[in-house]
Amino acid sequence: MKKTLSQSHTTPLPREGQGGGVSASTPLPREGQGGGVSASTPLPREGQGGGVSESGASRSLIVSALDHGTVIDHIPCDRLFEVINLLHLDQMTSKVTIGFNLKSHKMGTKSIIKIADRFFTDDELNQLSVVAPNVTLTIIRDYEVVEKKQVCLPDELRGIVRCNNPKCITNNEPMQTFFHVTNKQTGIIRCHYCNHEQELRK
Ligand SMILES: [Zn+2]
Repeated sequence: MKKTLSQSHTTPLPREGQGGGVSASTPLPREGQGGGVSASTPLPREGQGGGVSESGASRSLIVSALDHGTVIDHIPCDRLFEVINLLHLDQMTSKVTIGFNLKSHKMGTKSIIKIADRFFTDDELNQLSVVAPNVTLTIIRDYEVVEKKQVCLPDELRGIVRCNNPKCITNNEPMQTFFHVTNKQTGIIRCHYCNHEQELRK
């Protein structure tokens, strides 16, 4: 025969979050009522994003979990923090969800960033091509995917790449680098200040 551990617990414990306005319309079942509580009561759903499945089909689920904003997918894991820096996500006030070390068919592992209620200009997004040229961008407005695109190298790069010429003024003065992209296919860039040409991805 089972013994009840708390025999004299007649005083109901105060519920957490009673004053917080949590789903005031649904009366929550009380704990400790002795197991008669129906398990079929649907729990209130917490926003989206919380319960994203991490199964194999996660990609579409993760993408669709954002209802309004920008999804940056297929970020190489070792580039995630560079992407965060480039887009200044640390200064953002909207909700940013980051997935790190997710499984990917194409890449093995990947990272993904979902930014709610924020849409970037092509210039901002194209900066990403320097650190993560193969990311996939999905623009979602009111639950609908309105655009999917890749990034491409912009014509000019400011403050992202360092000049390989040690004598270049940008390596000797506290100033931003400035490159012209001379060949978008091969990723050849030319320093605006010293004309040194270098390959972007190496
Ligand atoms: Zn230079």
